[in-house]
Amino acid sequence: MEKIDIKCLDETQLKEVFVKLSEKPFRASQVYQWMHQKLVTSIDEMTNLSKDLRAKLGEQFAFTVLTKAEMLVSSDASTRKYLLRLADNNVIETVWMKYRHGNSVCISSQVGCRMGCSFCASTLGGKIRDLTAAEMLEQVYAIIRDTGERVSNVVVMGTGEPLDNYDNLLQFIRMLTDDKGLHLSQRNVTVSTCGLLEPMRRLAEEQLAITLALSLHAPNDELRKQLMPVAKAYRIEQLLEACDYYFEKTGRRVSFEYSLIQGVNDSPKEAEQLAGLLYGRNCHVNLIPINPVKEKSYRRSDVTNVLRFQKILEKAKINATIRREMGTDIDAACGQLRRRYMEARNE
Ligand code: SAH
Repeated sequence: MEKIDIKCLDETQLKEVFVKLSEKPFRASQVYQWMHQKLVTSIDEMTNLSKDLRAKLGEQFAFTVLTKAEMLVSSDASTRKYLLRLADNNVIETVWMKYRHGNSVCISSQVGCRMGCSFCASTLGGKIRDLTAAEMLEQVYAIIRDTGERVSNVVVMGTGEPLDNYDNLLQFIRMLTDDKGLHLSQRNVTVSTCGLLEPMRRLAEEQLAITLALSLHAPNDELRKQLMPVAKAYRIEQLLEACDYYFEKTGRRVSFEYSLIQGVNDSPKEAEQLAGLLYGRNCHVNLIPINPVKEKSYRRSDVTNVLRFQKILEKAKINATIRREMGTDIDAACGQLRRRYMEARNE
């Protein structure tokens, strides 16, 4: 039987496990602190535990540590893209971004993705597996260890569909924001979804203060279906209802992501339709000029189209910002570094 990963357990679960092993609950608190505040990379570093206990833990449990397979730094040093290696030798991408107001980490939630969005590199090889809560946490921890800097924001916008890995995602968020761990503010955590209806509604009911972002990319179902297979399952109207429900339950304004593709979804007609759709909603639109993926023919919208699109939204009183393009010189587009790495291995 596979061993339980000790880093996947929250403090209460860890205490329960310790009691079963006839260990005192305060030992579990110590171990929790070593893992989630001191971010140690081995059980042997937990020096206030006896050698015997350390050996016992090492035997009983798996202990996830992610190691750096590759790292690229953008020319302005504001962005680092990491390829991190998992215990089973799969690799995942994690991005570190330095902002004036604090550092942000963009994590992956799955190895690969099964959602099939037509403009995205992460989905080209399908989904391999879900990431565990420990593997999501370790992406943040590995980067803190490597940079020596604090992290204030975490966005779940890397490879994978987070709401397709719901339970592990929730465990991850709870542990990341726990005062016994890194204690990030829930307000500084964003989860981006391609629009899975039931889990969006479920998330609204969890009483979390995190930000929900919906990847919209089109103002009507017909166009959305051409870009995103998931649009065949749920209509935009249903997704917006779920967003309204999220706002109602949490008081958190929802973000909408809209990747701009030249000549596909960036005309004034689409901007006006989007404005109509979002009219009167307390929301925020993130415009992302698409990162071209070499396997696809899509091109990034030119500056004129991007600004024209933004202007139309703002005229309709919809708050819209253009995503600061960071790290395009290091292939920061979703999933591209991992793909290049795997192609190189298969040559
Ligand atoms: N599966 C989730 C989160 C991961 S993708 C989701 O769909 O939201 C994070 C964001 O990047 C999504 O809005 C996604 O549509 C967008 N994206 C994917 N590939 C892109 C590309 N090549 N250029 C610009 N944005 C892209």
